[in-house]
Amino acid sequence: MEMKAATLTDIPKGIKVVEMPVPEISENDFLVKMHACCLCYTDIKACMHGKHFYIELNGLPWVPGHEMAGEVVAVGERVKDINIGQRVAVAPFSPCGQCPPCKLGSFRFCFKAPDSFVKPGGFAEYFKVPGDGALLRTLLLPDNVSYEEGALAEPVACCLHAIRKAVIPLGGDVAIIGAGPMGYILMELAKADGAARVFMIDIDENRLEQALAFGADEVINAAKGDANRELRLRTGFMGADVVIEAVGTAETYKMALELARGGGSVSFFGGLPGGSTVEIPGELLHYQELTITGTSSFSPDDYQKALKLISTGRVDVKRLITHRFHSLDGVLEAIELSLKKEGMKKMILL
Ligand SMILES: [Zn+2]
Ligand SMILES: [Zn+2]
Repeated sequence: MEMKAATLTDIPKGIKVVEMPVPEISENDFLVKMHACCLCYTDIKACMHGKHFYIELNGLPWVPGHEMAGEVVAVGERVKDINIGQRVAVAPFSPCGQCPPCKLGSFRFCFKAPDSFVKPGGFAEYFKVPGDGALLRTLLLPDNVSYEEGALAEPVACCLHAIRKAVIPLGGDVAIIGAGPMGYILMELAKADGAARVFMIDIDENRLEQALAFGADEVINAAKGDANRELRLRTGFMGADVVIEAVGTAETYKMALELARGGGSVSFFGGLPGGSTVEIPGELLHYQELTITGTSSFSPDDYQKALKLISTGRVDVKRLITHRFHSLDGVLEAIELSLKKEGMKKMILL
């Protein structure tokens, strides 16, 4: 049986919808019919620069998409706990739970993660999921969670991973640099985690207005003046207890360190382009006694909890979806829109 998949064949943006066989499953896999897959900035970076660990391992062609949900349509005999007809969201890869990093709880660094990739990728009509530890990577969607909300459990899990590691003090001030979709999720989670005030910092006035509408306590436009001075004025000359960098540039990395109060913490969430260096005044690190954390991706527990936060309404992901496409042809358009910084999350629905 044939299916369609949005496939990257050339860098940059060489994306075409091509026919390919529906993946055959072994007794250890299960097959999902994709109903929702959301474009992520990681996909865009991969399509523009070829920077993605899957491409580095296997080269092109490659089918992007890793925020996905759908219906289970076939299950190998040896796969436990997964049944035909279940509505699921699936993590793009899964830790083995057995290797040394997994045993330390550092699932992100699982030695066997590359073997667990969903194939071909989320922007395909069907994808195959290795069934080992199926329930670690698979969310069974409750009736009140739609496919598109289920697909967004992935970015929520990434944000949750960062928030947990940053450790927000109850009643603390949190500054988030970058009022994009991830910034909004981080904002909601920071509030749920006990922040008294969340300051959103960006250079785009529209995004800051949106941030206020979505519940930010204060916004600061860094294009209009010294963001650090502004933050200090509004925090009794303290600075933020926790700063989260959600842009991914050398400039904003530096800004994050300056915004933190003495003894505060800084979370580097935004991914920097490969080969980037960040110049940091040494005294800032030493005399300011900062705690610095960096996070990327998430653990199975973050993923499970992300779904719970969505299904209970603690995190509203639906309002982040600004564009919906009902065909895989929409992937390229979604990328073009994102490059022009138009809208927020772009969803492909089949
Ligand atoms: Zn993502
Ligand atoms: Zn492992």
